[in-house]
Amino acid sequence: MEETELAAFCGELGEPPYRGRQLFAWIYGRGECAFERMTDLSKEFRRKLSERARVGFLAPARSEEAGDGTRKYAWELAGGARVESVKIPMPRAEGPARWAFCLSTQAGCAMGCAFCLTGRMGLVRDLSAGEIAEQFLAARRGLGPEERFHNIVFMGMGEPLENFGPSAAAARILSHPRAGGVSARRLTVSTVGVASRLAEFARAVPGVGLAVSLHAADDATRGRLVPVNRKWGLDALLRACRELPLPERRRVTFEYVLLQGVNDAPGDARRLAARLRGIRCKVNLLPWNPFPGAPFERPSPERVEAFRRELVRAGLTATVRQSKGLPIRAACGQLADDERLAGRARKAPAPVSARG
Ligand code: SF4
Repeated sequence: MEETELAAFCGELGEPPYRGRQLFAWIYGRGECAFERMTDLSKEFRRKLSERARVGFLAPARSEEAGDGTRKYAWELAGGARVESVKIPMPRAEGPARWAFCLSTQAGCAMGCAFCLTGRMGLVRDLSAGEIAEQFLAARRGLGPEERFHNIVFMGMGEPLENFGPSAAAARILSHPRAGGVSARRLTVSTVGVASRLAEFARAVPGVGLAVSLHAADDATRGRLVPVNRKWGLDALLRACRELPLPERRRVTFEYVLLQGVNDAPGDARRLAARLRGIRCKVNLLPWNPFPGAPFERPSPERVEAFRRELVRAGLTATVRQSKGLPIRAACGQLADDERLAGRARKAPAPVSARG
């Protein structure tokens, strides 16, 4: 529940609306699940709360850490659905650790991107706003006293804009000043290109960072990598990006997974730069993270750097995201529920060639 919903709920219990603020601060700011420990609430109010409500919480079903410090959590949700999220170390010369947190908005995903293991699961179900936010709150409970999450990304399992309401509500909760999460500008929601709802999401969560997955500079290649391109082609998607109500000095991030021989040639970079002309943006390049049975290869660091340089030469800001957590399959596009995968007929997509 968001703060306004908690205030309305308190009203139903005969309490003044400011009780909603207090509850919000306890549940999200302090991560408290037990009403009896919310000591600045009257005993009578706590009793009413215990009779009428319950604060849901997640405990990791499993968690594992890679040598680079990346930790992957697997959560078991009501009804047996499983999702994963990832705590990623941020480079820091000294001082207490700072982390990024990548969370899931759906169990599985219906979008079926060819290079993504989550897409092979299909969609199991949408997550509620509470289930999305709680992944972060549960991971935060495990931090040391000086450790902090520096940013949150909605880039785990699922397409946030296909689970619009709960994703937007969770983003508002986690960027609320009393939630102790991060500010909206440090929260990024990634979409594979649901063009029709991009601006609506930006309005629903003011100031939120938006990342749009492009992965190709032409519709033919993109259509083979990202099936949603058949519904919203590059023209429609980039038009939606141009029309985004971006706050001053904010840019859209374009994500581009680099697949050897498919979309990683210098010519692809030049076409991409031409497509992005006039959009306030930066490009984040992701050398593909492998998983068994996928018909792709990861390009060499030299090829990745050559692609990046082409973009920079064309006047774009372009960075390469370092893959973290590869050995524990915690990197981008590698999250999945193994049991669900094993239970589905493994339908490997047809190999994607460079030009179809
Ligand atoms: S890349 Fe994102 S949208 Fe595409 S299948 Fe994977 S989780 Fe879904």
